[in-house]
Amino acid sequence: QLFSQLPLKPELKSSLERLEYQRMTPIQQQSLPAMLEGHDMLAQAQTGSGKTAAFGLALLNAIHIEPREVQALVLCPTRELAEQVSEELRRLGRSLANLRVLAVYGGEAIGPQIKSLQSGAHIVVGTPGRVQDLLSKRKLDLSLCHQFVLDEADRMLDMGFRDEIIAVSEHLPVQHQTLLFSATYPQDIEKISARLQHQPKRVRL
Ligand code: AMP
Repeated sequence: QLFSQLPLKPELKSSLERLEYQRMTPIQQQSLPAMLEGHDMLAQAQTGSGKTAAFGLALLNAIHIEPREVQALVLCPTRELAEQVSEELRRLGRSLANLRVLAVYGGEAIGPQIKSLQSGAHIVVGTPGRVQDLLSKRKLDLSLCHQFVLDEADRMLDMGFRDEIIAVSEHLPVQHQTLLFSATYPQDIEKISARLQHQPKRVRL
């Protein structure tokens, strides 16, 4: 139940101490051990459950600061969520010196986002349309990206992002971990999981 029992990098343990996170929330307890072992995860989680820290710690624990290449990609339905998730990742990763987390989303000029990508990022958090755009312009390279997160997957599907999600996933290396978080479990969540995940562990709260 305590974060201190998990096999996390010492830097992450000190971030957690500084944030005064001691006890895991239920979603964290049930999903983190399997995610840290590298399993795919299909998890039902509402906003406020601590889901961001759950997948965030799994990502941050696997990141190597050198090289400064994109090693994890998080897709979110909205710009607001992309900003919130990147802020939480930065908070959790504060003890990892030189960590770069970048948010990219539509409704804003692409030029500055391209510039930021060119100076390097370890984790990119973005909306599906903008991420696909950056990929097709060859401004985002996912060849070293071994972790892929779909956050609020049900909302992304409701917003019509299915094709973009699939297209983005095709840029990942063959070996990668896919973490899918959704508040609800309609049929199309099972379908996209079957398409994108390999023997996922399941958590339903
Ligand atoms: P989320 O469900 O990801 O939107 O997170 C809800 C809030 O809970 C966020 O403000 C987190 O910073 C906070 N939080 C996440 N995990 C923990 C924890 N284990 N202990 C205390 N607060 C947490």
